[in-house]
Amino acid sequence: MAVPKKKKSKAKRDSRRTHDVAKLPKVTTCPQCHEPVLPHHVCPECGAYKGRTIIKTEES
Ligand SMILES: [Zn+2]
Repeated sequence: MAVPKKKKSKAKRDSRRTHDVAKLPKVTTCPQCHEPVLPHHVCPECGAYKGRTIIKTEES
């Protein structure tokens, strides 16, 4: 097994961990029902995408 030759410094370790941040998913609002929706996804509430209803949802 390959083993690191030198111990990584605290600065190297910490700079690697600068990207280890939990990020919230990007959320936009639906132009029809104003519910929060993920970008590039059909709205789960009203079935709209790009301002047009393309999927019929169970609730009217
Ligand atoms: Zn909607």
